[in-house]
Amino acid sequence: MGIAVGIDLGTTNSAVAVLRPNGKPEILKNREGSSTTPSVVLFQDFGAGDEPLIGEQAKRSAEQSPDDVVQYVKRYMGDPTWRFDAQSGARYSSEEVSALILKRLKEDAELALGAPVTDAVITVPAYFDDARRTATRHAGEIAGLKVLRVINEPTAAALSYGVDTKTNGNVMVYDLGGGTFDVTILSIHGNEFTVAATDGDRNLGGFDFDNALMKYLNGAFQKQGAPDMFEDIDLMVALRERAESAKKTLSTVEAAQVTMNIYGRPYRVQITRDIFDLQITSLLTRTQEIMEDTLEAAGLTWSDIDRVLLVGGSTRIPAVQQKIKEMSGKTPELGVNPDEAVALGAAIQAALSQAEPEPEPEFEGLIGGRSAVEGLIGGPIKVQDVTSQGLGALVYEEGTDILINSVIIPKNSPVPGEYEKTFYTREEGQTGSNVQVTQGDDTDPDFVTVVGTGALDYDAPRPKGSPIKYIYRYDINQIIEVELIDMTTNKSMGTFQIDRIANLKQEEVEEAAVRIGGMTIM
Ligand code: AMP
Repeated sequence: MGIAVGIDLGTTNSAVAVLRPNGKPEILKNREGSSTTPSVVLFQDFGAGDEPLIGEQAKRSAEQSPDDVVQYVKRYMGDPTWRFDAQSGARYSSEEVSALILKRLKEDAELALGAPVTDAVITVPAYFDDARRTATRHAGEIAGLKVLRVINEPTAAALSYGVDTKTNGNVMVYDLGGGTFDVTILSIHGNEFTVAATDGDRNLGGFDFDNALMKYLNGAFQKQGAPDMFEDIDLMVALRERAESAKKTLSTVEAAQVTMNIYGRPYRVQITRDIFDLQITSLLTRTQEIMEDTLEAAGLTWSDIDRVLLVGGSTRIPAVQQKIKEMSGKTPELGVNPDEAVALGAAIQAALSQAEPEPEPEFEGLIGGRSAVEGLIGGPIKVQDVTSQGLGALVYEEGTDILINSVIIPKNSPVPGEYEKTFYTREEGQTGSNVQVTQGDDTDPDFVTVVGTGALDYDAPRPKGSPIKYIYRYDINQIIEVELIDMTTNKSMGTFQIDRIANLKQEEVEEAAVRIGGMTIM
């Protein structure tokens, strides 16, 4: 067995960390010496098939060869229809593109450690549903990693923060990254980390701030006689790059100049922090609503929150910090480096999750195991997470022909856990149940997603109104198993894992592992 690392597989950037013998996690630098690697893949084909280039270089190529570059693939995880068509003619699923990034991270970590990396804990946003979590696990397997656990990013961040600062109290983790936003409230008491509530928006992040600024800049350039840059993909990519760079500049200074050469003519626009803040007002209002909802779901008020922890690159924006301060009355903390906190927490979890709680003798002095963390925090770490979305079943409302979604596991329920609800057969002589598992909190089927189906038979036809108990089990990775109990006989009718309509089949994962494993990446 090799070394287990923690991986933050981010929308824009990824990072890898390992637990050192002193019980502290540490970021492993990539081959270029950076702590984070852009989650960007450039597909290049020199005649012998695709040779993907990953990271900083790929990101830089986005402007020249936008058609060969994949960015923000995390947004497509769990979407079975998404494919990237490379110039070579090959098509890649989101799992495969993510696997290429993971493979590069694994190879860089091995270079930094001088030892093989075999296992990983990979983090995902708290709101990721079953399909996206499974897709992430598959990406890890395709990259040749044993995925020990898939854990929530905010929980990982809190873990690294809690272990580092030995905090006690209620902590709000505010995670605003490149593509996603998450708020999680948890209580930390010594070595116990208990999540009370989590919520977020999977399409809110630095990318959207860039879009807002791009719109503004495009308008400002047009006023100077420039064409609409959104009409030209190359110009749009260049504009995105300038907007992101100006946004970052504005995090430290009050004004930035944006210059662009458009069809041979130079243009220049000055942008101030006030102008930028105005462009992102509605996005910040959205983060405010989510913070308030999460607080309410946790049954707390602002006065109960002891600390606000910032995670994700976009929390460097002064207006973001100002908004939090305004609402919470507390100065938010960038305690751990916001780009690294998640990977650091994942590394702690990786040390706790390895089958062998202590490192192999050959890795002694290089990495630490369970006892190293526990020594630091003073006892066994307990982490209790919650579900980010409700899970239920489509059933007929009693006495009607109206199909409704009946929630079995409400959002923010502790996981792992087991939850049950009893339903009654509708027809005389019914011989089985067709279960449609849903994700979402609404009773209206139009507002929830059917994530899987299963059919189970009774041992004999049942009269109308016979009770059937549905048991839903959530495992530690938030992956779901369904069991039905025929209450007439009190016997189990069987168990099924949801079909995972949106995910790759095991043989597809294996095939992809061979294909991706055989590729040279740079
Ligand atoms: P993450 O997904 O956590 O790596 O966050 C990446 C996002 O943070 C990207 O949208 C970046 O543009 C943004 N970001 C990084 N540094 C800064 C900064 N100094 N000011 C504003 N946004 C930043």
